[in-house]
Amino acid sequence: MENKQELRTWLDDFKLNHPLVIAGPCSAETEDQVLKIAHELKDSDATVLRAGIWKPRTRPGNFEGVGALGLKWLETAKKETGMLTTTEVANKNHVELALKHDVDILWIGARTTVSPFIVQEIADALEGTDKIVLIKNPVNPDLPLWLGAFERFYTAGITKLGAIHRGFSTYEKTRYRNNPNWQIPIELQNRYPDLPLICDPSHIAGRRDIIFDICQTALDLNFDGLMVETHYDPDNAWSDAKQQITPTTLIQMMEDLKIRKETD
Ligand code: PEP
Ligand code: MN
Repeated sequence: MENKQELRTWLDDFKLNHPLVIAGPCSAETEDQVLKIAHELKDSDATVLRAGIWKPRTRPGNFEGVGALGLKWLETAKKETGMLTTTEVANKNHVELALKHDVDILWIGARTTVSPFIVQEIADALEGTDKIVLIKNPVNPDLPLWLGAFERFYTAGITKLGAIHRGFSTYEKTRYRNNPNWQIPIELQNRYPDLPLICDPSHIAGRRDIIFDICQTALDLNFDGLMVETHYDPDNAWSDAKQQITPTTLIQMMEDLKIRKETD
């Protein structure tokens, strides 16, 4: 990762807001749900719509995503709202389908970043494209594993990269679903100051009431963006119901957060 400046060109290419705001449901559930949320977010600070199509769940028996069908819904949402779209890819087949359906940004989930084999498979599948790839930290607090994933994509010629901090699993009893261990993303930022760093407060928190505080901490630490799970009916979401906020709450939150201006 020598020529680090190129890491952030994608933020400028899309003239994305500062901070970059990615919002949308944990999971795409139905076409109506995706479109309703996209329209509610359309005039907010969120410029990128997120929705998980393939949902890696820690244990089987829960909703595991609508699959490729959801890609069409994202295409329609993009057409109707002008938002960019992003979804999680976890293997070569997902990558091929996401490319076919013109998903703008791909993200690598925390359960994928832990596996160098699968990270390499995805990086190889993207070789020759200029896709933007955001890499979530591995579930465990292991900076070298996270760094290794960036290096694999970079070596495959994928240089439009970004990091998503979603916290780390722990056996300790904490107020968080995933412990933020802020020193790990800060160390990543120190090593690669030009690598855009995005905070996912939803998976750190696991609950709605501390999302705001986590976002403020991230912005105070100079993060470049936020990825916030957003649903019009959070309590009845098919996954991660406790941590999603409504688009209205997101809009209010963005007004209330103290955002450092580029010139500060
Ligand atoms: C998600 O973003 O919905 C998700 C599954 O996240 P993570 O990989 O961080 O657990
Ligand atoms: Mn989720």
